[in-house]
Amino acid sequence: MGRLQRKRKRKWKKGVVEDGDSVCSKLVQWMGEKDCALPDNIRWAYFNDTGRGLFSTTYLQKDSLLIRLPKRLLITVHTVLQSCIGNWFCRADHSQAFSNQQVLAAFITWERHLGHESRWDAYIRSLPREYTTPLMLSGREKAALPTYLRDGVHVQERMVVEAYKQLVSTIGKRSLCEHCGKSLLADVFSFPSFQWAWNTVNTRAVYVKPTTSAVKLRDENTLALAPFLDLFNHSCLTNTTVEETAEAYCLFSSGEWQPNSQVFISYGPHSNCKLYLEYGFVVRSNPHDVVPVTAEEVDQVVNSICEVTSKTFCKARNELIQQNRLTENLCFSNEGPSFTLQAYIFLRAACGFDKNLFQQKIFAYEFTEVERDIINKIILGLLCDKIEDYQQQVSSMSQLSPCSESFGLARTLVKYHLELLECIHKKLFMVK
Ligand SMILES: [Zn+2]
Repeated sequence: MGRLQRKRKRKWKKGVVEDGDSVCSKLVQWMGEKDCALPDNIRWAYFNDTGRGLFSTTYLQKDSLLIRLPKRLLITVHTVLQSCIGNWFCRADHSQAFSNQQVLAAFITWERHLGHESRWDAYIRSLPREYTTPLMLSGREKAALPTYLRDGVHVQERMVVEAYKQLVSTIGKRSLCEHCGKSLLADVFSFPSFQWAWNTVNTRAVYVKPTTSAVKLRDENTLALAPFLDLFNHSCLTNTTVEETAEAYCLFSSGEWQPNSQVFISYGPHSNCKLYLEYGFVVRSNPHDVVPVTAEEVDQVVNSICEVTSKTFCKARNELIQQNRLTENLCFSNEGPSFTLQAYIFLRAACGFDKNLFQQKIFAYEFTEVERDIINKIILGLLCDKIEDYQQQVSSMSQLSPCSESFGLARTLVKYHLELLECIHKKLFMVK
């Protein structure tokens, strides 16, 4: 791993650093003024593959402290309440509760508009100007996504739109900003500004221990923005330990890092779909990746292969599927078909029905040779269908040009999924 990281570092583009250069220096200087001494060995740089990130000038052994951020430098709901927009969220007449993300996004929108007058100016200037999350896709690009991605994008969109609508009704009649005299809704809290801030919170917030809040929140009060610390990029190959005390939020590396190599942390064992939808990036050979399968896709293959059983399919089997939630987590991973996918296929394709016996077969993984053959036949059919489908998707997505960076990532994601399906197909069915 160390070697890989060193290679990454050598690929810096000096010219690209400039912009990051001044904003990051100012951020470090600002943190120093807030009595936050950053570790001497952790520095920022621009990396070709990940963009801005952090590296260590010294060798870091396992369990090394990466950063210790005083709690007063975290932006939490508590920070928002102490600001001049804090009272917007505390009024008793709110029928609906707010979400963590919504409150923090509103705060970032507000502070960004304050410019140099914001206490958080150095931090806000260090944030990316643009994001590559699917919220940035055009209507045409969204229409060109495969259904399984489009559904996820719609969920994200609905969340930001609803959060914005509620915020607009909270701001209500305060039409002009007391600070600059501009229109609060048209200028300060415009939808694009709020969406940018929403992306900021979505892609960069960390989880902290839940605390109570004077705001009526609909989720646990656990989100915080963490200046500088949010410059660490994600790797699927590492883990990170968090230690939180009353005074500080600390990150420890669970791996070793060679001098001058980018130091990564883990945002969690996420699939590429999750990474794309939430953070706006994807990772090649992601060990946590899965290609989702729908029950309908399975049914289609089952119906084309086992005509007789599909006709005699009974209510009891459906109940067994529902009771054991066997339509959830239907997918292919690097390991092959998921447990529920195999169980679901068995229940849709097997002959006859005996509840106890079937349940035992599924959970003990005890199928007869004949049953195993049927399951394999359906898995093969499913893989072939999906590979053909994904090949078409990649080819039709490639025709959309020019496209946004976010759409390019979606296309890469579908390509990675196609690779994963082909790899499983090869592993399971190709004669060696
Ligand atoms: Zn203003």
